[in-house]
Amino acid sequence: METAPLFAALGLTPTLLTGGTLPVSSPIDGAGIARIAVTGAAEMPQVIARAQAAFRQWREVPAPRRGELVRLLGEELRAAKAELGALVTLEAGKIASEGLGEVQEMIDICDFAVGLSRQLYGLTIASERPGHRMMETWHPMGPCAVITAFNFPVAVWSWNAALALVCGDAVIWKPSEKTPLTAMATMNILARALARFGDAPEGLCQLVIGGPEVGEALVASRDVAIVSATGSTRMGRAVGPKVAERFGRAILELGGNNAMIVAPSADLDMAVRAIVFSAVGTAGQRCTSLRRLIAHHSIRAELVERLVKAYASLPIGDPRAATTLVGPLVDHAARDRMLAALEQARAEGGTVHGGRTVTAGVPQGGAYVEPALAVMPGQTAIVREETFAPILYVMGYDSFDEAIALQNDVPQGLSSCIFTLNLREAETFLSATGSDCGIANVNIGPSGAEIGGAFGGEKETGGGRESGSDAWKAYMRRATNTVNYSARLPLAQGVTFDF
Ligand code: NAD
Repeated sequence: METAPLFAALGLTPTLLTGGTLPVSSPIDGAGIARIAVTGAAEMPQVIARAQAAFRQWREVPAPRRGELVRLLGEELRAAKAELGALVTLEAGKIASEGLGEVQEMIDICDFAVGLSRQLYGLTIASERPGHRMMETWHPMGPCAVITAFNFPVAVWSWNAALALVCGDAVIWKPSEKTPLTAMATMNILARALARFGDAPEGLCQLVIGGPEVGEALVASRDVAIVSATGSTRMGRAVGPKVAERFGRAILELGGNNAMIVAPSADLDMAVRAIVFSAVGTAGQRCTSLRRLIAHHSIRAELVERLVKAYASLPIGDPRAATTLVGPLVDHAARDRMLAALEQARAEGGTVHGGRTVTAGVPQGGAYVEPALAVMPGQTAIVREETFAPILYVMGYDSFDEAIALQNDVPQGLSSCIFTLNLREAETFLSATGSDCGIANVNIGPSGAEIGGAFGGEKETGGGRESGSDAWKAYMRRATNTVNYSARLPLAQGVTFDF
């Protein structure tokens, strides 16, 4: 789709796209596509006050009615899927199918949240005192700031916002400064849902635009009850302590360094397909991208040979073309970091296949690279870092215990997987002594999670959980209630206090 009609279809008017100080460019060719206004520091207190006022009204709206707004959002997203997916491709550089997949993920979480709006269950608990009843109730928590990364420019907002809205919270979104247009378009889609809904409070969902300093104002405010921040571990190190200092609630979704163990019994055809998709998909720019391959020595050489062949056949180029599987990196700085990491891998004894800059047959001005395989002598310093690019480090192992130790011996703890047909290995990998990650899979790759499960990771990945399962509890506060329906006042633990 041409850019001008795409912008028009998503309500991105020339006035919104020009005259500001934040330049926005497309990773496809590096060309500027907009200059938009940023949210000034002086505006932030008003934004937060509006969110507080909206929250006070919204928390009184029955949860199933709140779910109706999210149902309408899902409908509007379905109607705008093609356009929003195309804008994700234009602004973040994802291939067309992944741009659409990201919008599908938004639709899926809306569906999930609509059901959830009738299932915000608390427990009832047996009381030790006669004539007493105990229970838990879950209440709306307050405004929720959602700070997002460039690589999932819209889905991460929806994971948070769909849940926060049914949970009764107001939402303030600070998207990546690299991808503000997809956020603005999403707010326009939401505006259609709000108009159909009718009586949602003004300021229920707001958007603030700018870099870290705009995020910092949200992080620092006591009136922002929840800060859900997705991005690098560096960002989480800055955000986490500041939220903790004011006893706010943080949901941190930070960097990953995800591994696959390939055991001797593995179905190698399946493993190769899973490896290529999870290491190369989104040009290696997913938090769950496969970055470390831990292959048994008996099959490592064969696996590398098959991967080198598969990598050589991957169509690299314009992400809008239907045949492209590897689009551009987000910018030239990301490509420079990839090349530097490969240089370090060589210096640490690695043998690198691929990893060169691509300039032929691709749009000029974008940062296109061949995905790289780096066969390493061990888990060296560079392997333990997350480089946000399509680099797959390959290591060997002899014993299964050694493979698990390698898998766990990195600072990050997001996603992991094993390819094996051996039941003992599979179950051990999933057990308390196996993978230490928030996501552990058997015979599928580490990337491409479904929304039904709780998403997030341990250690330097930050410990937050979003999306499915009971992740909604992070957006509400829990009250434990005891009701005495007897005519006596017994104390717990048999304590007496007679006077
Ligand atoms: P980034 O850390 O550069 O930026 C992420 C967001 O944080 C941006 O909106 C940025 O403006 C904001 N920010 C940065 N410093 C801040 C501060 N001090 N206070 C408040 N806000 C601040 O990350 P990126 O380059 O956009 O994204 C890539 C990174 O995100 C990778 O490390 C990737 O693994 C991670 N990521 C993690 C998940 C997950 O769910 N675990 C999902 C997507 C991306």
